[in-house]
Amino acid sequence: MTTVLSTIDARSLGRTNYHEHLFQVTPLLPGDELDDEDASRQEAALLRESGFDAMIDATPTALGRNPAALARISRATGIHVVATTGGHREAHYAPGHWLLELSSGELGNRFTDDVQVGMPVRDAAGSAEVVANEAGLPVRAGVLKAGIGYWGWTAFERRVLAAVAAAHARTGAPVMVHLEHGSAAFELLEVLASDGVRPEAVLLAHVDRNPDPGLHAELAAAGAYLGYDGFARTRDWPDSMLIDCLVRSAELGANDRLMIGGDVARRTRYVPTAGARDWPTWAGGCCRGSCRPATRIWSKPSWFATRPAISALSPGRRTAHCQKREIEGWEIRGARHGDHRQQGLRRVAMQGPPSLRPGQVVR
Ligand SMILES: [Zn+2]
Repeated sequence: MTTVLSTIDARSLGRTNYHEHLFQVTPLLPGDELDDEDASRQEAALLRESGFDAMIDATPTALGRNPAALARISRATGIHVVATTGGHREAHYAPGHWLLELSSGELGNRFTDDVQVGMPVRDAAGSAEVVANEAGLPVRAGVLKAGIGYWGWTAFERRVLAAVAAAHARTGAPVMVHLEHGSAAFELLEVLASDGVRPEAVLLAHVDRNPDPGLHAELAAAGAYLGYDGFARTRDWPDSMLIDCLVRSAELGANDRLMIGGDVARRTRYVPTAGARDWPTWAGGCCRGSCRPATRIWSKPSWFATRPAISALSPGRRTAHCQKREIEGWEIRGARHGDHRQQGLRRVAMQGPPSLRPGQVVR
């Protein structure tokens, strides 16, 4: 697995947040720009302190990604960071954006170079100077990303898919695809397969926005990995439904295909940038700080891992809000309370301890 500092055995990545953003600037999220290295370093340190060993920075080309800063943050905090290349869905780019003008061949060459040669200092048309980390090594991307729309893709998004497939063929890097509302997953796998990408190399991001365990089990059976990242930032569905869907999907056979991420991705929700905001009734009203920031589940980088990766840490004290589930001896505890300023990252995380006993609670 290629990180921003080196190449390491994927199994030594450890507990991995499959989807987060330390840097991201997009016209779709005005006021939520992630462009402050100090704040992102603090957030990464909090992630590390909460028990994560690794994260994927899922920001693709020309959306404010900052590979030099990722390398500095990784070294400073000790968390492995995997950088991303590829493109997002078209709505993230303003009309006339230079990336929209590139052919699939040009896109594929760019994405391949990001993985093999190194990422450019600045994402710009024709940019060539490559970022080096403190060790003097080029900072390379480890994941190829594409994005599609609700039940379909634009011509640009199709070019990105073809380019990602070409880069995958040349580099072997795994492919992550943003699904809009969790839609068009099988259609996406088909089009990627027609471009030569096997489902086993594909991670379907945000599939939990369509929390259908039967569908998820079928996607997993087809070989794809399932990215759950909607926990603790309720928009479409409550945590209770996502946890139920996760458990049911695992019971239906998807347990070695589940990957958990935060995708908090917003300045207004990160602790260093939003922590000063006053949320008195939430932070103090539910559990008065007596419990931990809820369930932590870590996911392994499953497309390389050999073991399914589900279990959890329990909250410090059970309350009426806590939920408990067991899957084949692995335990998930969810708690819908805690420090609401720490949305996403520390409230749901996943771990794969090979030695966990049935019913054992890990603290
Ligand atoms: Zn994201």
